[in-house]
Amino acid sequence: MKRNPDALAGRTFDLLIIGGGITGAGVALDASLRGFRVALIDKGDFASGTSSVSSKLIHGGLRYLEHGGFHLVYEALHERGVLLQNAPHLVRPLRFILPFYRGGRLAPWKWRIGLTFYDLLAGRDNIRRSRPLSGPALCREFPQLHGSGLEGGAEFFDAQMDDSRLCIEVLKTAAAQGAVLANYVEVTTFELRQGELAGVRVQDHVGKRELLVRARQILNATGPWVDSVCRLAGETGGPKLQPTKGVHIIVPARIRQAAFLLLHPQDGRVLFVIPWMGKTLIGTTDSFTQEGPDNLSVQPDEIAYLLEAHNHYLNPPLKAEDVQGSFVGLRPLIRSVSGQPSSLSREFHLFESASGLLSAAGGKYTTYRRMAQEITDVVARRLGKPRRCRTKHFLLDGAPPELGQECVANETNALEGFGLSPDSARHLVNRYGRRARDVAEYLKQDPALGRPIVPGEPDLRVEIPYQREHEMALFRDDHLLRRMRLGMYHREVMNGLFSS
Ligand SMILES: Cc1cc2nc3c(=O)[nH]c(=O)nc-3n(C[C@H](O)[C@H](O)[C@H](O)COP(=O)(O)OP(=O)(O)OC[C@H]3O[C@@H](n4cnc5c(N)ncnc54)[C@H](O)[C@@H]3O)c2cc1C
Repeated sequence: MKRNPDALAGRTFDLLIIGGGITGAGVALDASLRGFRVALIDKGDFASGTSSVSSKLIHGGLRYLEHGGFHLVYEALHERGVLLQNAPHLVRPLRFILPFYRGGRLAPWKWRIGLTFYDLLAGRDNIRRSRPLSGPALCREFPQLHGSGLEGGAEFFDAQMDDSRLCIEVLKTAAAQGAVLANYVEVTTFELRQGELAGVRVQDHVGKRELLVRARQILNATGPWVDSVCRLAGETGGPKLQPTKGVHIIVPARIRQAAFLLLHPQDGRVLFVIPWMGKTLIGTTDSFTQEGPDNLSVQPDEIAYLLEAHNHYLNPPLKAEDVQGSFVGLRPLIRSVSGQPSSLSREFHLFESASGLLSAAGGKYTTYRRMAQEITDVVARRLGKPRRCRTKHFLLDGAPPELGQECVANETNALEGFGLSPDSARHLVNRYGRRARDVAEYLKQDPALGRPIVPGEPDLRVEIPYQREHEMALFRDDHLLRRMRLGMYHREVMNGLFSS
């Protein structure tokens, strides 16, 4: 995947996608596989919006059953199955524990019914059946859990991913199918011909120049920026979105063998405590905000809210000083009449405007492939070229052809000749899949690149030249926040390693 903004000008694309988060990336891959000429641009780095600050779960969303969201949960559970097949190096099963406490907002029997539905809706795509756990068994396995009032619990399975890497992987796969992609290219003006959109003027922030990109169809896939891009295109209607703000904190590893689904003691909202990158992730908040997507910040009371939930259930208690990092994003949710933030619909919607602009909004990361299929069906119809979707059984770029732990072992063994420790080799395979060998090739030029960037962390220096040359990483944050995640919890590397 090479950056070549010149390839954006001088021809007419079938489809121009504005936004390189997972929604745009999914459509770029689907449309390229259908043989369309596709361009995709992002005003910042790919996945620099919501798609790098999610809870990193590929999940059905057990909690949506409470609001009767059976269709959404069904679809998400089956998309989970598809992703476990198509990107097994980036999406992995994750065990969840759901403790039941006396007086909890939801009675255990309601949870049990919910879990039975969850298993049934997953059908053949179920990872493993949920099962009840006794209070003593839970306390034995998780001595960190407060025992007082604990009446037992349950275990169920979902999946975990690395959100920005998965997004970049989908883009790499699209590029391999001929899509022209460029980060740091921002739409500034829409070009109309006889009242219909014909293209956009863009600013290449790296080359410091303006380009004209022509396309027969334009898709606005800008997540929380959807309304502002619609306004740029001359739309005058009210906002389509009602974004909500979600904060996560990163703390030292607490529980490594499972994630916890907990209800916040203040308001009964669902929260997760998740093992992630050798650390623990706690999230998320869900609140209306006046902050825009370009100026989000994490407030002390949001951190306190998350710590309160952790400390209510788990020992030893955490303090604000224990927080190693935090991140925040906006959920691009469809505007609804009223309601609490948490009950706003996670469904997605494709808006079609009079000028011909398509705008995709809402949805979840988990269902990006299915959303892309529906969007590309509409694009194909509009182009007068209905073609079949091919993404369901299409392996992503780094996916090894065989699945499971055996394949990880095979790929890891293949790296032996490069002088990497088994842990480092496994780290590269878990992040790059079959492309781990391409990363390791750089060690032939300089074996010292086999050293970790931060002692004790798995990320290796050798990843930097690979990301620069094959993943369009241009700046420090592109490497450390999205293609690796080290900068999110080792702020000191943000100053040390790169000059930019
Ligand atoms: C806190 C939180 C937790 C979540 N957890 C989960 C989860 O665990 N599982 C799950 O399935 N879903 C989860 N979600 C939802 C999921 O993350 C989002 O639905 C998804 O990432 C949205 O992707 P997107 O591509 O639509 O938007 P984004 O990722 O925000 O991408 C939009 C892109 O458009 C670009 N852009 C904006 N304006 C312009 C312009 N003028 N020109 C060019 N480019 C532009 C931006 O730079 C950005 O990169 C979570 C969301 C949040 C906020």
